[in-house]
Amino acid sequence: MSSSGVPDPAASPSDASSPVRQDFIRQVVREDLASGKHSEIRTRFPPEPNGYLHIGHAKAICLDFGIAAEFGGRCNLRFDDTNPEKEDLAFVRAIEDDVRWLGFDWAELRHASDYFEVYYLAAEKLIRQGDAYVCDLTAEQVREYRGTLVEPGRDSPFRDRGVEENLDLFRRMRAGEFADGTRTLRAKIDMASGNMNLRDPALYRIKKVAHQNTGDAWPIYPMYDFAHALGDAVEGITHSLCTLEFEDHRPLYDWVVDRVDLAGTPELLAPLTARGLPNVAAKPRQIEFSRLNINYTVMSKRKLTQLVAEGLVDGWDDPRMYTLQGLRRRGYTPAALRLLVDRVGISKQNSVIDFSVLEGALRDDLDARAPRRMAVVDPLKLVLTNLPDGHAETLTFSNHPKDETQGTREVPFSRQLWIEREDFAEVPPKGWKRLIPGGEVRLRGAGIVRCDEVIKDDSGAIVELRGTLDPESRPGMDGANRKIKGTIHWVSAAHAVEAEVRLFDRLFTVEKPDDESTGKTYRDHLNPDSKRSVTGYVEPAAAAAAPEQAFQFERLGYFVADRYDHTTTRPVFNRSVTLRDTWAAGT
Ligand code: ATP
Ligand code: MG
Repeated sequence: MSSSGVPDPAASPSDASSPVRQDFIRQVVREDLASGKHSEIRTRFPPEPNGYLHIGHAKAICLDFGIAAEFGGRCNLRFDDTNPEKEDLAFVRAIEDDVRWLGFDWAELRHASDYFEVYYLAAEKLIRQGDAYVCDLTAEQVREYRGTLVEPGRDSPFRDRGVEENLDLFRRMRAGEFADGTRTLRAKIDMASGNMNLRDPALYRIKKVAHQNTGDAWPIYPMYDFAHALGDAVEGITHSLCTLEFEDHRPLYDWVVDRVDLAGTPELLAPLTARGLPNVAAKPRQIEFSRLNINYTVMSKRKLTQLVAEGLVDGWDDPRMYTLQGLRRRGYTPAALRLLVDRVGISKQNSVIDFSVLEGALRDDLDARAPRRMAVVDPLKLVLTNLPDGHAETLTFSNHPKDETQGTREVPFSRQLWIEREDFAEVPPKGWKRLIPGGEVRLRGAGIVRCDEVIKDDSGAIVELRGTLDPESRPGMDGANRKIKGTIHWVSAAHAVEAEVRLFDRLFTVEKPDDESTGKTYRDHLNPDSKRSVTGYVEPAAAAAAPEQAFQFERLGYFVADRYDHTTTRPVFNRSVTLRDTWAAGT
């Protein structure tokens, strides 16, 4: 069983039924194993704990952990925690939760901060080799010296400091003697390089900020490129998979790995050995792939944070959010997200995936697995006048039309039913197949009803229908299969449980909500109808659901019992996705 409460044949991401994936990264991995370059594949998923994971991260997670699983390798979860002011332990916990929820587990849990001592020693080594220097330029001056894409940069006046002076200054940076921003340690590479990342990039900066893992131990913090490359090397990562924006950083990544040469300098690893952290020094290879982009969404931690901070959504796990926490609460299943990632595939081609691909993956997963139930979200009373007052019976319904192993359930049936208001029309439009005055419709699994009378209140609003149930059309009777155009769902008014039903829809109304070229921002494109809460009625077997259990409510869509608010006495269901794509052109 998955945590969504439905049988999950696709629970194991590496199960035998998975297709053999053939993307270019897996091709490299196959070749590296075949040639003996690596005997074991090691990957890592390296989130920065500065926000919640979003659906884009699902792609990276499925790739990093998936490859390790498929090829008998190991994947670490590494928190890239080198930016202390934006990071938080709550994010760390949520990220761990998200990765497990998606169906993966890590070989080892690491933090970039576990390696701060190694990074420091590596930096001293670079200084001694003449590969790094302490620079006193301010951030603004550094920018001026860097040049542009068409102009080479200029050497910093501090570039030729001697080794001893550099070592002394760097040690004093580490001792906390200098104020934030007054000095950096920079790699000495090439101020004229066509690749801006190689124009003496900073390796360390001074930042007297407490860190969620190391507290006040460090007044200096390593820069991402330096820390990331060495983190990979320390862990013996064979294939370091990242998104395309890091392609231009690869030469720096390789420079750091080569110049520090952990394998040839085992003493740099001493701080880890002392702490019992196993380590392997191998030479990692960075390979880039394109990000997952989906239209009608925003997908960056920064923008998702803003939506929460500005109160535009009800928190990180608002079911309309594209965070994994939000998608989970909405009723997205791990199997659906893995299916999405498989369908999107891995390449270097940037593209925008249509939102319907995301919804389609969820529909396909839930169609196969979610038990069926009946629920009415806009109730209209229907009284079957030819049944006696206290009439009550139970009907047996199969839980899933295509999966007998899901068994059956009992559905109570009685004289008074709730039906969907939109299943009745006094003046039917053309092609109408549902109930009309004097017309007949099949009550799903119960028989055929004719509408005899429409009761209205003083304002003319319809408050009740009265009808006759054809006794010959009841289950098991000769007329049970009598042809009739429409079938509608219902629940027994006496037995159904009142439920809060939250009808969610896409958060944005336009394909590119964060396209600011029009002078608008995503705030201008919020869908005003993205959340509606109604009171409906569900059959008892739906009310009895556990939180996070998914159902198809017949004819309405796929729903999930809310992870936090649902109880069996006060059911709360979220609409995960409609049965069909109502956004597709022409509908
Ligand atoms: P964001 O830009 O949304 O803040 P990020 O890239 O800064 O995301 P990290 O925590 O640094 O987030 O990312 C961890 C891993 O997830 C990285 O390897 C990154 O490349 C990958 N990743 C992030 N967004 C996507 C995406 N949209 N598609 C695929 N992989 C992604
Ligand atoms: Mg980032």
